[in-house]
Amino acid sequence: MEKLLCDLHIHTKNSDGDLSIREVVDLYGKEGFDVIAITDHLMDKKSLKRRKELGKNLKSIFEDNIKSYFNEINKEKDRAIEKYGMLVIPGIEITENTRGFHIVGLGVTNYINPNVSVKNITEEIRNNGGVAIAAHPVNKFSSGRHEGNTFLWDNHKEFREYMDAWEIGNREDFFAHVAKEGLNYVANSDLHSKNNINSWKTVLDCEKDVESIKKAIKNGNTEVMFYNGKSI
Ligand SMILES: [Zn+2]
Ligand SMILES: [Zn+2]
Repeated sequence: MEKLLCDLHIHTKNSDGDLSIREVVDLYGKEGFDVIAITDHLMDKKSLKRRKELGKNLKSIFEDNIKSYFNEINKEKDRAIEKYGMLVIPGIEITENTRGFHIVGLGVTNYINPNVSVKNITEEIRNNGGVAIAAHPVNKFSSGRHEGNTFLWDNHKEFREYMDAWEIGNREDFFAHVAKEGLNYVANSDLHSKNNINSWKTVLDCEKDVESIKKAIKNGNTEVMFYNGKSI
């Protein structure tokens, strides 16, 4: 069995990505990926309020349009398997810029409330059949991002039981300290535009179906690699 090349953290026009879901599928399908996850931002209400006051675009999916988001992923999922043999997993990224953390809910197909405790968010993700991934602790790294999302990572001992994995690679940045403590890990592009595709990726040695993939991540059967467009 060949290993699966996966990118489990991708944004589209449904939040602040440049590409539509369809364009993302074609991009990764042509690159020969085995598995991708669409994980658009779902922002907490205080952050949304701040952005509104500043006159900024909201760049989030909402409780009232999340159904059409998941429907669109579903349609593309069928096309992706047929055309490229590529599995598309639905998801969301809880984007909590008030307390300062991002959690990818991989495999969820329902609204997850971002305005509750970390424990309740991850319980809701798991109750929805999803996997909870502590996303990038980025504050200021090579990719130039500046919002501090270090809350979970600064307190990883407290939150380790709530998280199924930690995103130690994100774009070109690498955050190894939790891996040294034996926590499960993945690595992803956090794609917002086409050129983010050359970045960290997750490699899995399992069957190409959602249940096997979730199990591999929960069991810590993951590898990471830096993908530069010609590695596989
Ligand atoms: Zn994020
Ligand atoms: Zn993201």
